[in-house]
Amino acid sequence: MRRNPKHSRTTHTLLFENNFLYGASCAPYAKSMDWPMEEWGRDLAAMKKMGFSIARIFVPWDRIERREGTLDFSKQDHFMDLAQKRGIGVLLNVGGVFDCLQGIYPPPWLARVYPVHAAQYDPRIAEGHNNSRVCVCLDDEIYREKAFAFIARAVRRYADHPAAAGWMVWNEPGLSPCYCAATAARFRAWLKEKYNGNLDKINRLWGSEFPLEYDDWEQVLPPAGVGFRDGGLNAWRDWQEFTEFRMTDSMLAVNRIIKANDPHRHPTTANICVNHGVEGHLAFIRMSEVCKALDIMGYSYYTVAHGECKSLTPFLKALQVDSFRWYSREKHRRTLVLETEAGPNLYMITEAQRRLNNWLAIGHNAKSIVCWNYRSRISDNQVGNFNLMAWDGSPTRRAKHHAGMAKVFNRHAHIINNCFPKPEAAVLVADALTRLAFATHVSAGPGYWNHAEMDQVFKSRKGAFKLLWDMNIAADGLAEHNLNDIGKYAVVLLPMIENMTPEIADILRKYLAGGGTLIAESPFAFKDENNFLIGHAPIYGLEKVFGARTRDREGRESAPDIVYPDGARSNVFFLWHAYELITGKAIASYADGRAAIVENRFGRGKAIVAGTEVFRQYLDKPEEATAGFLRRAVLAAGVRRTAQVIIDGKALDATGVEICRLEGKPAIIYIALNHNEAPVTFRLKIRGSGKGWFDLETGKAVVPGGEITLPPLGVLAFAKNTRTSK
Ligand SMILES: [Zn+2]
Repeated sequence: MRRNPKHSRTTHTLLFENNFLYGASCAPYAKSMDWPMEEWGRDLAAMKKMGFSIARIFVPWDRIERREGTLDFSKQDHFMDLAQKRGIGVLLNVGGVFDCLQGIYPPPWLARVYPVHAAQYDPRIAEGHNNSRVCVCLDDEIYREKAFAFIARAVRRYADHPAAAGWMVWNEPGLSPCYCAATAARFRAWLKEKYNGNLDKINRLWGSEFPLEYDDWEQVLPPAGVGFRDGGLNAWRDWQEFTEFRMTDSMLAVNRIIKANDPHRHPTTANICVNHGVEGHLAFIRMSEVCKALDIMGYSYYTVAHGECKSLTPFLKALQVDSFRWYSREKHRRTLVLETEAGPNLYMITEAQRRLNNWLAIGHNAKSIVCWNYRSRISDNQVGNFNLMAWDGSPTRRAKHHAGMAKVFNRHAHIINNCFPKPEAAVLVADALTRLAFATHVSAGPGYWNHAEMDQVFKSRKGAFKLLWDMNIAADGLAEHNLNDIGKYAVVLLPMIENMTPEIADILRKYLAGGGTLIAESPFAFKDENNFLIGHAPIYGLEKVFGARTRDREGRESAPDIVYPDGARSNVFFLWHAYELITGKAIASYADGRAAIVENRFGRGKAIVAGTEVFRQYLDKPEEATAGFLRRAVLAAGVRRTAQVIIDGKALDATGVEICRLEGKPAIIYIALNHNEAPVTFRLKIRGSGKGWFDLETGKAVVPGGEITLPPLGVLAFAKNTRTSK
């Protein structure tokens, strides 16, 4: 193995300059059998010819150290050398896969030789190593020590290699709660720290369901569920928060090891599952923490392959793709598509879907497209699935299609890499509040988890984003990692905020005092950070900020209509709250005369609270009067659309035509995406001058104000260089 300490990292770190990172995952993999090594040289030559510049491989401990103490890196060495020869950069997955600390499986000898803890997912049944695949809990100390030592060794081996482009901390992270002894011990240590060693506090907060009088930390056990049979809500909340901590802490540890062992500080990233940017809580991914383990946020981008197409609406796809941008710590919030379906599986992606997907990702700040997979693995249950190239490595029709796109993106790499979305609106998605909602609305007992109620509640958050998406208003999600940037948004929407913490209340108050606009739906801030009901809502002084308060609610069965000043009426959605006015004024009332929507001036800002789930309603069953009210309220805050879509002379929202806008020093880029299954003809009212635009694919002039027709799933990407414009 060549080590060249003098090598400067000029060859292949992810520089985002004049090439676009198009590529594919290749052998060696972390599982199953790789295609023959003798063919890799030909594969890399073909990749180069297709305009690919990035490859992704795994460095799996269990295959490299098959017997303890004997390590064989020959496959990875060979690939790296071939990649260098072809000028292709390599992303090395040196960290975890799914819930495993390193690679997809720990080496079998680990469980044979050492007393490691098997993961135990069911609190009732102790699981053992009773088949050939060993499952070791990632809290096991022996496992951690040995896996981390292997990661350090792998990083040192490849850090100097000219083909090394970056490190992958984890592949598709996700955890389940674990009930093994190692996890229970860690849980107690975590609780001790969280509660400053105060066991009485645990007794009080956890003892809300039935009395608890622990007098020794060793008595504290992980809860198996919540409610009548299983225990208090706060114990359940802490257990879920701790499970998130286990995931985050492992990713942070891998990132630290990489940084400590790579003198060139190649960037770190990971492919988070595409739905987890928005709904990470489903897999105990706390995005506002996980993002701290990655220099650049990345994702696995599947839209049809496993059946995603059955439920993935265009809006949801756009939201998922966008969410990774909110969490990217890269200075321009660039993101990376690190896996995306290339070949057949349960469903086959079409060329039109692929083209739209790629431009959609770029429209939301992705700066790479890495296919899964270059070829098919040759022995597992995915044989013949996902492959870009034919089984023997020869080009397919779809490979030529990808090569064509790689060519376009490379031609414009400089502007694509250096132009970024600039949102002016935001939606509060704080993880602390999500966790409280999740603990409240997801019931579990031994062996089952019931998500149905949470799925309903979560529609509120999606509805808030959809309102903005339908208007072509770019939006950020605001969570703990970027909440202090709240001042840069003209409007912040507050969906699904049932709980409130003193810290978040304080941030909202200051934001409003400084001139922002807040729009909240109810239920709003009626419980505190420990799930206690206070007696009125909103709490923590927010009643002054919103100029109104409520003390009760009823269900839709007893609801009067909401009546707007122009006489238009809407239904309530699920619950309805009548507000008592403090300093605010009712801008819509229930038919019985009580206040339904209250607006209040506070400092230099404006706060609006609606008495029902207006955002959830917008997603599920929009009411025209309320939707119109929300649109006007958002625009009144001074937020701009990326562009206005005009059809048949009318400026319309919710057309299914998404307009992404990216700007930067070299250019402004517009990407118009027709998400409809039918053609659409429209004109665009864009910001600034209508002159000087060119089609990124054909190079032909584009007149945004002229008639544009896009076929089903059609895309028009156009740009102009900033130097030639005003
Ligand atoms: Zn465990």
